[in-house]
Amino acid sequence: MADLILGQVLTFTADPFAMGPNAARHITHGAVLVEAGRIRAVGEADALKTAHPTAKITDYGRHLISAGFIDAHVHYPQTAIIASWGKRLIDWLNSYTFPEEMRFADHAYASAVADRYCDLTLAHGTTSFCSYATIHPASVEAIFTAAQTRGQRIWTGKTCMDRNAPEGLRDSAQSAYDDSKALLTAWHGVDRLSYVITPRFSPTSTPEQLNALGALWAEHPDCLMQTHLSEQTDEITWVKSLFPTARDYLDTYEAHGLLGKGGLYGHAIWLTDREKARLREMDASLIHCPTSNTFIGSGLFDMGGLKAAGHRIGLATDTGGGSSFSMLRTMAAAYEVGQLRGRALHPAELWWLATAGSAQSLHAEDRIGTIAPGMEADLVIVDLASTPAIEQATRRAEDIWQAIFPTIMMGDDRAIHATWVNGRPTR
Ligand SMILES: [Zn+2]
Repeated sequence: MADLILGQVLTFTADPFAMGPNAARHITHGAVLVEAGRIRAVGEADALKTAHPTAKITDYGRHLISAGFIDAHVHYPQTAIIASWGKRLIDWLNSYTFPEEMRFADHAYASAVADRYCDLTLAHGTTSFCSYATIHPASVEAIFTAAQTRGQRIWTGKTCMDRNAPEGLRDSAQSAYDDSKALLTAWHGVDRLSYVITPRFSPTSTPEQLNALGALWAEHPDCLMQTHLSEQTDEITWVKSLFPTARDYLDTYEAHGLLGKGGLYGHAIWLTDREKARLREMDASLIHCPTSNTFIGSGLFDMGGLKAAGHRIGLATDTGGGSSFSMLRTMAAAYEVGQLRGRALHPAELWWLATAGSAQSLHAEDRIGTIAPGMEADLVIVDLASTPAIEQATRRAEDIWQAIFPTIMMGDDRAIHATWVNGRPTR
């Protein structure tokens, strides 16, 4: 049976960075018809009620119906260490990340955290995510299984590291290739699950391992590849010492077959002109993680300049280097970083980044990220007056953008009234 979901509908028909706020479609008394996991129709509530008299109606009143949020870069194994104090990138990894990731050798522990992480995403209105796992194949199986149980569309892959990581968290060039290939073969394309080839970053992979993963990507060009790029200046200095003949950080990937369309490069803050030009030429995806960049003290991503140059850009929490599971909080941080770079991002641009933009960065914009007939029915229902502070700030709102901006800046999981995944309400 079809479901007819009523509320204010907000979605995008184009990129607001290019088209302005008119790229959005807003229907004040709107409706979304959902059947068998797909969106069948979107339009005025009265018209859809008349056209589909037998559909089961769920009326969300004034709440906003949006495509579910898409988090384009997370580390689900870092769920338990979120908001750990006082470290920058390299110390963060050694003090918090590596000891925690070591625990994922225990399959039961991995499964428990995977379940907790997926529940947290749904509580925050995030219906899809692209996550690093740990070096343990079981950590990939755990998060695939948790997402599959909940019907979520996700990407994940075994994080590969064969140097500069502690004993117990190192694989080898050969085992990284073999384990990644076995996981890819078993899981890629099953239900809504996709495998993503995952070297952590070039400091923790030998050239041999980067080559092996580049070869695997060449064998499976339909897979995405994710890694980190130019997050902190200390890291860039370290990369230079580890790869003395590389032209720059990006070249450490490029020289080993790890630059291409379908490549996801997390952070990308301190890019040289050559790196920007090559990333643009390849139409690679840059993933902006603003709460992480401020929390870890990395720097200010140039959203205005990179979007104007035509880069493909997604938005992400980078949990647990990021300080929140919430894409609302992440939009707020993107706004703040934009302000510090002299570019105030419009609410339409922020909302687009968290939905359609992230979908584009994951090459999934034909399936998720917008509300249109044929799209997969992943929806978030947002209360635009979820706290007294937000409610009073919206009273004088004269349009949808003034109504939505207080929720972007001050909202959290209390604003998430419901989350639909694959055509079904999950909460
Ligand atoms: Zn990361």
